[in-house]
Amino acid sequence: MKYLLVIAVVGVVLWLMFGRQRGRGQGKPSVPPKADTRQLPVQIVACAHCGLNLPQTDALQDAAERPFCSEAHRAAGPR
Ligand SMILES: [Zn+2]
Repeated sequence: MKYLLVIAVVGVVLWLMFGRQRGRGQGKPSVPPKADTRQLPVQIVACAHCGLNLPQTDALQDAAERPFCSEAHRAAGPR
């Protein structure tokens, strides 16, 4: 009778292990929701003079609507 109990316990343990592995397998394909909702609110543009990336809302534009990171670079013009 003791062996039957041991076999039953081992069977339950194995069943739990396989059950957990199935749960992990099902969880893997799901993509974290942060990647989908994390959209940039503003467009990123590169300074026409130095190439610095900055939000379009912070960029200064010249007459040709080229983005610049600062007034000094707008005065210097595109490189
Ligand atoms: Zn610049």
